[in-house]
Order: sequence, then structure tokens, then C-alpha cells
Amino acid sequence: MGQMSNQVEEQADHVNADGSISLAEARCKAAGERLTPARREAYLAMLEQDKPLSAYELIAVLEKQKGKKIAPLTVYRHLDFLMRVGLVHRLESTHSYVACVHPEHTHESHYLLCSECGSADEVESRALGSLLDEIADRHGFQPENAIVEIKGVCGDCVTDEGE
Ligand SMILES: [Zn+2]
Ligand SMILES: [Zn+2]
Repeated sequence: MGQMSNQVEEQADHVNADGSISLAEARCKAAGERLTPARREAYLAMLEQDKPLSAYELIAVLEKQKGKKIAPLTVYRHLDFLMRVGLVHRLESTHSYVACVHPEHTHESHYLLCSECGSADEVESRALGSLLDEIADRHGFQPENAIVEIKGVCGDCVTDEGE
């Protein structure tokens, strides 16, 4: 019985990764772009991380996977592309990048950044998005990047401390 449920879970994970890639491909197509094998590898490497990565950390992950050196510029280009089509978000406060958790639609996302475990939870809030638009509007300001990054301690780490 235990074995059965393990199998089901593994399958579910697999479907999930495939699902993300086909969503990502659809997303690129809609933007008139192509998810080339190299771009796909970079995106998958980001998806596999549960924490934001700096560009240099991503380079290290990809170099380990491929077993050879990769020019930093190449990886920066992949990141630029992935951000342009909305598959990766950049966290300004930590100069790092994180794969989008819901690439199926365009959105404004915000982050809860844990200073203990380094996790970055992507959250969506229409209310916050329209409030930010309203503030910018009032000042005649054209926002380019309106990601709100909230630093603090995540629920898991708060619980650990309480123990
Ligand atoms: Zn996102
Ligand atoms: Zn935490």
C-alpha cells in the first residue's frame, strides 16, 4: 500500500515538471519567442531549486549538470529571456532570480523572503497590484517593476524557533 502511494506521488511530480515545460513553451510561443534547449535547461534548473539563485549560482548548477564551463554572458542572456517572457522573476533586494510558480498567466507577483531559510514565496494579490497602479498613476509615474519584496521569517522558521 505504502509503495503504491509512493508511485502515485512520483508520477504526479513527473506530470508536474512536464506540465511546467509545456506551459513555458506556450508562454514563449505567445510572446513570439522560442524555448530553445539551452533556455529550457536554464529554466528547468531554476524550477528545481526551492530558493532564489544568483546568476553565478545558476552558472554553477548548469556547469555541474553539463560538466563543462559556461560563459556567464550566455547565462545572463537566458535569464534576460526568461524574465522577458515572465518565466523567471528577479528579486532586486537580493540580486537573485526565481522561477515563476504559475507561468500559465501574466501577473504581478510579490515575494515573502525568509531571512532564516532563504525561501522565497511568490504571492499574487490583485488588490495590492491595483493599489500600486493607483499610487503610480497619481504621481504620473510609469512603473517598470512593481514587485514588492517583504523580508521576514517564514511560517516554518517561526514554528522551528518556538520549539
Ligand atoms: Zn510569477
Ligand atoms: Zn524560513
